[in-house]
Amino acid sequence: MTTTKRIIIAAVTALLISSCSMLEKEPKLVRISGVVFGTYYTVSYYEEEGRVFQHEIDSIFDDFNSSLSFYDKESLLSRINRNEATGVDDYFVAVFNRAREIYVETDGAFDPTVFPLVNAWGFGLSVREEMTPERVDSLLNYVGFDRIRLENGNIVKETEDVQLDFNAIAKGYAADIICDYLVYRGVYSCLVEIGGDLATRGLKPDGTGWRIGLEIPAADMVSPQEWDYFVEIHDTGLATSGDYRRYQEVDGKRYSHTIDPVTGYPVEHNMLSASVFAPDGMSADAYATALMVMGPERAIEFVEAREDLEAYLILAGEEDGEFSFYASTGLELKTRDDL
Ligand code: AMP
Ligand code: MG
Repeated sequence: MTTTKRIIIAAVTALLISSCSMLEKEPKLVRISGVVFGTYYTVSYYEEEGRVFQHEIDSIFDDFNSSLSFYDKESLLSRINRNEATGVDDYFVAVFNRAREIYVETDGAFDPTVFPLVNAWGFGLSVREEMTPERVDSLLNYVGFDRIRLENGNIVKETEDVQLDFNAIAKGYAADIICDYLVYRGVYSCLVEIGGDLATRGLKPDGTGWRIGLEIPAADMVSPQEWDYFVEIHDTGLATSGDYRRYQEVDGKRYSHTIDPVTGYPVEHNMLSASVFAPDGMSADAYATALMVMGPERAIEFVEAREDLEAYLILAGEEDGEFSFYASTGLELKTRDDL
């Protein structure tokens, strides 16, 4: 019997622990939340008068969706994928160019042209196909960031079948864009979180960073989120890619939604999630996906060689429900005793 289970929930969700200072005459903490890209967002910031920028934020998300959303059939991205448009906008250019850099740095582990494979494996817009080695091989003919380029503001593809998927980078970039907007409006310090991926700017008025709890894998989908460690960050992006909340089960075998663009198959290793700390949200998002493709050994080697990146990996043990953790050398983990 074949059972197909599809669970679409934001991967690992970082838990926000807030602390309010008692000082008088300081900027007010504002919190805004809503739904975007099929997930939840929370924006927290300190502003002199406590002005609420809900309307402005939602309108930025609308613009962003019209450019990069893969769920919106009329977005620029969807039209480019259907070869109905070639001219791009600023959001598109920023994501495309950064994606290419990260594709090169990660030896193709991060590759937005993986879309035909994502679709065929059932994680895109269509149901899962019968995936034979022949089918995988034929789809690999359309995968590879070298098959697409930007020329004078237009997308040029090697063949019409090349398609882009920015799901592994767009949430982090959207968090950066909202932070930029808030800073432009005079906000002191902000944290923008979209489905567990986030960007932060500035220290809080009490001089501390934003506190983010690192989630422990839950026993099941309904268990509450728990954490043992937290980090304090500012002017940093943090994103998590993981499998234990989003996968497909076919004949009792789990299939990851992270696809190795080199082999064409969903990744298989004992890394349950990769959280990456990078200077901005867009980079953190893309590198987190890349680390999930690399698997633990390569991921650790990659992160340790990079001054600008830190990572927190959750690894499955031999026994069901057993976990271990890896924190990169520069990451300062704090516990409840530090609160
Ligand atoms: P994330 O949760 O940021 O790791 O993004 C996962 C999504 O990115 C998947 O659902 C796919 O749509 C897409 N994706 C899967 N594999 C890759 C890859 N190797 N490079 C870029 N995007 C990918
Ligand atoms: Mg990502």
